[in-house]
Amino acid sequence: MNVGIVTVGDELLVGDTENTNATWLCGRLADRGVVVRRVTVVPDEVGEIARVVNEYHAEYDAVVVTGGLGPTHDDVTMEGVAAAFGQEVVANETAATWLADRGYGAGDLAAETTHLPADCRPLRNEAGVAPGAAVESAYVLPGVPAEMRAMFESVADEFEGTPTHTVAVDVDEPESALLDRFTALQERFDVSVGSYPGESVTVKITATDRDEVERAADWLRGRSEVV
Ligand code: ATP
Ligand code: MG
Repeated sequence: MNVGIVTVGDELLVGDTENTNATWLCGRLADRGVVVRRVTVVPDEVGEIARVVNEYHAEYDAVVVTGGLGPTHDDVTMEGVAAAFGQEVVANETAATWLADRGYGAGDLAAETTHLPADCRPLRNEAGVAPGAAVESAYVLPGVPAEMRAMFESVADEFEGTPTHTVAVDVDEPESALLDRFTALQERFDVSVGSYPGESVTVKITATDRDEVERAADWLRGRSEVV
């Protein structure tokens, strides 16, 4: 399964807020063996949101959207996602009941957040107020990190891929000296190899077969200045 992530918010684009939601989602999806193909940040604008959600829906198995679900004028994510699927945003009865149960009436600003794409499955916000929604294979989650995480966990089972195994080997040699070994690793073993230079070079060896990863890592350790 592969996924595109769309994080919405002007504050992300001016550097006021660090995009920790994207990092967290990438980690959780990778844990589940799901391949994240894109992460995009878009402003709080219906047209920009609709364009990228539409593109990712055509390209990937699922789209995860976060941010901009609140009741204020700058929160337009539901309009953008609805537009991507050619839908209107309408009052959602199920979501309205959830808020009513928690004491938010029709006149409250918070009740505005129960306007969702016409054909959607509303997602309960266990850690906050604004509901999310699943529209076809797009999952629309809140921007507040704790709310986003709780709502993602409620649908996490719907994201499934092939789990991979990774072994990291720290090598105390210049990266340039390792190039031949990287080529050899990929020729001899059915693995992918990533190289992350810092004080030493962290070589990450990844595959779906755990034994193959261990064999490749042993091969590298036997030929390198391991830290
Ligand atoms: P609310 O109902 O509170 O308005 P919302 O779903 O509309 O929530 P936003 O208005 O987009 O969410 O953002 C709410 C808070 O979450 C802000 O403080 C924002 O900085 C933070 N936030 C939004 N997106 C992200 C992100 N991608 N990574 C980390 N924090 C984020
Ligand atoms: Mg908001």
